[in-house]
Amino acid sequence: MLRPPRSVATATPVAVILSLTAALVTSTPAHAADPPAQVEPRTGTETPALVSGLNEAPVSGDPVTVARHHLRQGRYGITNVNTDLVPLDVVRDGQDETVRFEQRYQGIRVFGANYLVQMTKEGNAHRVTGAGGRFLTELSVSTTPKFPERLALDVALSRTAARTGGEKEALTAVSGGLVVVPTGKGLLAWRVTVTGTDARRQLPLLTDVYVNAGNGAPLFASDRIRTAVESSAEGPLATTGTTVRGATVPINAYQRADGRYELRDRTRWNGTAGEVVTYDAQKRDVSRFQGSLPADTPIVASDTPTFTGATTEIGAVDAHWGANQVYEYYRRLGRDGLDGKGGSMLSVVNVTSSGRPYINAFWDGTKMVYGGGGDQYYSLASALDVVGHEMTHGVVEHTANLVYFGQSGAMNEGIADYFGNAIQSDAEGIDPADPDAGLLGETLCRTGTPRQCALRDLNDGRVAADDYVGSTGRIDSAGVHLNSTIFSGALWDIREKLGARADKVVLKALSEYMTPLDDFSDGRRAVLAAAVRSRLGARDLLTIARAFDAHGIRNGWERRIATDHDVLLRGVTDPYAQPDAAGDRYVVTNSSADQTAPAAVYTGRVRGGKAVQLSEPNEMSSYDAVTDGRSSVWTTYVQREDGWKMQLWSRPLDRSQPQRLIHEGDGDVPNMAVDGDTIAYSVWDSATGGYDLWVKKGDAAPVNMTPQPGIYSRVPTISGGRIAYIKLYLWEGGPRRMVITTRDLATGQETDLPAPPSPPNVIGLVSGPVLTGTSLFWLQDAQQDGLQGIMRADADGGSPVALTPDDATSPRLLDMDATDTAVTYSVYPDLTVISNDTLPKITQIPARGGKAVRVTCNRGEQAQFASGEGGRVIWIDGTAAHVDLATRARPRGACRAA
Ligand SMILES: [Zn+2]
Repeated sequence: MLRPPRSVATATPVAVILSLTAALVTSTPAHAADPPAQVEPRTGTETPALVSGLNEAPVSGDPVTVARHHLRQGRYGITNVNTDLVPLDVVRDGQDETVRFEQRYQGIRVFGANYLVQMTKEGNAHRVTGAGGRFLTELSVSTTPKFPERLALDVALSRTAARTGGEKEALTAVSGGLVVVPTGKGLLAWRVTVTGTDARRQLPLLTDVYVNAGNGAPLFASDRIRTAVESSAEGPLATTGTTVRGATVPINAYQRADGRYELRDRTRWNGTAGEVVTYDAQKRDVSRFQGSLPADTPIVASDTPTFTGATTEIGAVDAHWGANQVYEYYRRLGRDGLDGKGGSMLSVVNVTSSGRPYINAFWDGTKMVYGGGGDQYYSLASALDVVGHEMTHGVVEHTANLVYFGQSGAMNEGIADYFGNAIQSDAEGIDPADPDAGLLGETLCRTGTPRQCALRDLNDGRVAADDYVGSTGRIDSAGVHLNSTIFSGALWDIREKLGARADKVVLKALSEYMTPLDDFSDGRRAVLAAAVRSRLGARDLLTIARAFDAHGIRNGWERRIATDHDVLLRGVTDPYAQPDAAGDRYVVTNSSADQTAPAAVYTGRVRGGKAVQLSEPNEMSSYDAVTDGRSSVWTTYVQREDGWKMQLWSRPLDRSQPQRLIHEGDGDVPNMAVDGDTIAYSVWDSATGGYDLWVKKGDAAPVNMTPQPGIYSRVPTISGGRIAYIKLYLWEGGPRRMVITTRDLATGQETDLPAPPSPPNVIGLVSGPVLTGTSLFWLQDAQQDGLQGIMRADADGGSPVALTPDDATSPRLLDMDATDTAVTYSVYPDLTVISNDTLPKITQIPARGGKAVRVTCNRGEQAQFASGEGGRVIWIDGTAAHVDLATRARPRGACRAA
């Protein structure tokens, strides 16, 4: 995650929930010649709680004006009826009319202070018969907040998270502005509306939190939806629904107090958990459903007890029925729901993606989310194998919790594949001998054959050492989907031989043997152990072993994958790891094997040897470490009272001194560079909406090199007393010219290189400048067509030449690094079909130009790289079925086609 993890919330008292509901006046209108008016005072205010038995002369005009007229001239102690009363509503019931006002104090809403005027309508006129409610005449409070609004949002979020057992980051806070809380002389408060999911109750959350605007103390919270969801239901109902494909299936629903029916199955409800509920995203974007369920997401509802028509088309019936099928399947295996404790199963259907159909589905740790299909696909919920697959992720999470990265992640996916297909096969009576029986999601397409439609085939026959796709953390979390059928294929083979007996064995392996960091070989061992524990005979055990053999899953299978690199650091699990090198040293960030630890900076020698941790332990991840071979600079985040800050730290590679804070600020620091005692970094300036380049020399304060508002500067590189960077000249807010600039740090002499030779009305692009001891290298895209050439000039910008052409024949470069010896680059992969052949590879050319050679012939992905002494390259490599920091003494040269 790029987002910093949550820090420990400070201890403050849990919000007190008060009941400050406005007293509603329900007086009975008096009739003409009835007893005289009765006045019931209210303590603490001049304005009466109730005035009844009035019989005023009828007044014409609109009801609000008439009601105001009644209250004017200081009657009941209300002095400014026009400014201090705002009409909220006019309620009509036959001839009865009631105007509801809300009190304002110096323009600010007074919490819970409503005052009402009761009237009868007589023609166009209105006769006032009573008044009452709550109006506070003794308020005396400053309306200038001392505690800032943005901090009030933060207080509301953390208090609500503490109260509902959720994560602050999963909630959203919106300010409702200032209110006056009517205690004593009044209390100025911020009203903050918090939405999200109540993590304890697994119900939508929509609550108003009031925060003292003088000192930031949380005052109270008022849940807006607490009764609407829980207490109005009238009872469960066994009914039917129509699936997307027209089948009538039994489902359990719930009849609400308002007479409508909703997809809420409470047959296993124990009072706090055990519901099966299906929500309608109403075509809202999938991004809103990653994390907490938005509070305003309705449960799928119908006017009739049978669910057809619109509820069918959005996949709601399929999702609801499917969830129950999954529940029943696991119950037959002896498991009570996804969490094994009968917990609720929530589904959301009908999400979209950027306004288009979302052709995917996922389990997010608390609920299922399904795309609604579209012209070409049915709702993703309509395929029971997909439903079973996704919900099985919930089972995995509550059992072995296989880490979603590399081989353990591919097993997580593979087990979901297996059970998804098993659930579908059982429910639909599919013959295991059917060649299409192993297809996943084959029924989703509105046209085409099942095989054309399927997402994966458990019978694809892949063998680990031959077919493992060696992607790094950057692509598919190191191959969790790309490699799942290697493992699920073996499991499915077992089911074809043993039948449904295999299901119990696989579930037992998952829940009683597997652990989060298991690899394929561990998985084999777990399944065999579970089979023995299930008292399967020798013949069945042999069947299981042969299935794993057939898919190449046996101890040490990874060693059969050929590689030509040396490993510097084994098991790189930070997907953002971007190594840097200079001389014989490198730096790289890495997390722990299970990816739960924040990424830290490590350093070692490019020739090999043990890596040591350079950054001091921190709750926050470190990012983007760079080095000049002597020290390193990296970024991290810190939470301050007024929000998240970005920090820049530095430390000598020999760890002779503690790490030192270079910079802390609000603005993003996307790139930095270090050379000796000089550190350069670009900082986002929200005031000008652009990047400035700061340079810090030794212990001196940093200096902004480009404070001009019309100049943005990024991507610094420093070497030999010079700094180079990308300079963007703006004009009327838009880019006018983009150039590489090189500056002598001693004299301040600065030279802009010529802008790329672009066609008229095209702003040529430059990127990735690298200064070496003698030269300046960068990428150029004059045509702005995404195809780049590699450029070189002298360090002072003189004699620029193109090392590779920038024209229609140029590659789409992913990254570039250079030394005085060589220029190294990689090319964007074709990600439409991911295979080992299409993953990015690293290529090198001599620094003065010449023939391109491959750095390594490894078949898998060669991702982020850097070059150090003599052009030696280090890179993140996924080939060997784990992700390593790798190197070679010299480029491999030509690679034979696989
Ligand atoms: Zn999955």
